[in-house]
Amino acid sequence: MQNKGTSKNDLQRLCAVLAKDDEQPWIRKLNAHARQASAERAWQAVASFYRRCKDGDSKKGFPKFKKHSRSVEYKTSGWKLSEDATTITFTDGFQAGTFELWLNGEARQLIQSLKLNRVRVVKRADGYYAQFCIDAERTDTVEHTGSVVGIDLGLQYFTKDSQGKEVVCPKFLRQSEKRLKRAQRKLAKKFKKGVKGQSKNYHKQRQQVGKIHLKVQRQRKDFAIKQARCVVRSHDMVAYEDLQVSNMVKNHHLAKSIVDAGWYQYTQWLGYYGKLWDKIVVAVPPQYTSQDCSSCGYRVKKTLSTRTHRCPKCGLQLCRDQNAAINILKRGLAIVGAEYNNSTEGHSESAEPSGKTEEISIAAAGESSSTVNAVCEPVTARESSCL
Ligand SMILES: [Zn+2]
Repeated sequence: MQNKGTSKNDLQRLCAVLAKDDEQPWIRKLNAHARQASAERAWQAVASFYRRCKDGDSKKGFPKFKKHSRSVEYKTSGWKLSEDATTITFTDGFQAGTFELWLNGEARQLIQSLKLNRVRVVKRADGYYAQFCIDAERTDTVEHTGSVVGIDLGLQYFTKDSQGKEVVCPKFLRQSEKRLKRAQRKLAKKFKKGVKGQSKNYHKQRQQVGKIHLKVQRQRKDFAIKQARCVVRSHDMVAYEDLQVSNMVKNHHLAKSIVDAGWYQYTQWLGYYGKLWDKIVVAVPPQYTSQDCSSCGYRVKKTLSTRTHRCPKCGLQLCRDQNAAINILKRGLAIVGAEYNNSTEGHSESAEPSGKTEEISIAAAGESSSTVNAVCEPVTARESSCL
């Protein structure tokens, strides 16, 4: 901030200077590569801030100072994988100790045979985890079923598809949420205004709340993955609404249910499985999907509370969400260049992934179908695979 024109190399050099600083002996304890990695991250944060300024983004994202860092990233030194790849030991001055690796035989072989370039230690509410990124092709095939489906993401249901099948939001999430609320109330009671550092019991409770958050987060993710996997497995083409969740969350009446439903995560995994199994996953523009009649196209105005679609023009009566799902499917098929006809058979040929439609699906699904290069998770820009 003070010296203009500081370069990336200067940062690296300053890492070595810091390591000799007697006032902050902990810096010396950290592995040299890990020091550099954190300098790189800081550099990246500043660089992308400048890039966004240049691009004129509305959100500049000024880099933040991190007081409580929750992760350390190692490169190729400072840690050692045991020969049978069952444990990983950290060898630098912090003595983080030995971590067990829980994975299946296939992944273990991969880890043994591939070179790990980055290992990250992350703190979560319930302990410490080691994460690493490996570049491996995930091969898995499923049969093509010849069926296509449109999915409406709803509040009444988690999803409702064009054949009328619904998936209800699981109760366990609501139950965990109750537990979370209770724990948060307890925490609020233990908070003393104006007291520095707070009491021991406050921090105990704080950790408790953290653990519950973590559990809810994991349950939600697990549910999203299982649902996405199931849908993509049993259909050749999946169309879903491209909802702008961040915009909808601003509407506070809906906000909680929406975030809860974990739609975004769900659509990301749809893209992942689509890519993995060579199936088409399309995001379609959501405008008027719930208003238009799926049979004749007449626009029937509805409020959020109208649950049934009744068309005055052709007389169609259908559940509101199923009507929307059919519209979504139609739009999805239009995007990939196929036509909708009202039976489940006959789609197999029209929806067969050819080179051209494949490309469209990638463009339409955007980043959700990023390259499949992790063993168990899609790699987003900032998160690497967690084993
Ligand atoms: Zn109609």
